[in-house]
Amino acid sequence: MRPTIIAGNWKMFKDAHETSAFIASFTKALTFELKNVKVVVCPPFTSLAVAQPLLAGTPVALGAQNMSPEDEGAFTGEIAPKMLKSVGCTYVIIGHSERRQYFGETNDGVNRKVRKALASGLLPIACVGETLEEREKGVTDSVVSTQVKALFKDVPEQDATRVVIAYEPVWAIGTGKTATPEQAQAVHAMIRGLVTSLYSSETAGRIVIQYGGSVKPENAVELLGQPDIDGALVGGACLKVESFIPIIRAGIAP
Ligand code: PEP
Repeated sequence: MRPTIIAGNWKMFKDAHETSAFIASFTKALTFELKNVKVVVCPPFTSLAVAQPLLAGTPVALGAQNMSPEDEGAFTGEIAPKMLKSVGCTYVIIGHSERRQYFGETNDGVNRKVRKALASGLLPIACVGETLEEREKGVTDSVVSTQVKALFKDVPEQDATRVVIAYEPVWAIGTGKTATPEQAQAVHAMIRGLVTSLYSSETAGRIVIQYGGSVKPENAVELLGQPDIDGALVGGACLKVESFIPIIRAGIAP
């Protein structure tokens, strides 16, 4: 059975002090058995080293929101995979739509980062998703397929299941508009079919595909109940313990 992965993308929120306070109350509230659910928090770079000791001994894994595709060098402002590992990161978000939209990340660049993350022992959460204009034009499947094919380029089958795919329709991110469970399920099933054609049905059956886009306690149960939705990448609602905890609970299979 595939695990359910619930990841919180803090984006550019919470300084080091706020991180300590949040992690303390969040881990205190995680009193229930997580069963099949893996929980990940992805704070800003400056909070990773603060979060690491606070998460030690808890079931919560640490992730970053971006990384350089280079190992080291004269790349001012960049953070290398090895640096993320040195502060306890297991996961790294790659190709979030905000990075594609505001920082010019391309499908090729996302593929480089995915391959570098895998080679460095990090688990990439690779984001794909269509804009509102693309959905309205009826090209969702072709846009998302192009992104998925690109991110897996030159990734060998034995590594493919270490990639977590996050399907995040751009029009649903931070807008309060959620894809209906049926809309999300349709794209997730299409992605799983594509992974079958790229690799095999065995690999497609093992790969985790998260949904992201205004996931909240009110819609999480229905979204996570869809057969091909294996978790959530949560933005706004992960910033408060009161809203993140019920989303995690929604991922626990009965
Ligand atoms: C995200 O940042 O990946 C995201 C899905 O944000 P939100 O939940 O706020 O829409």
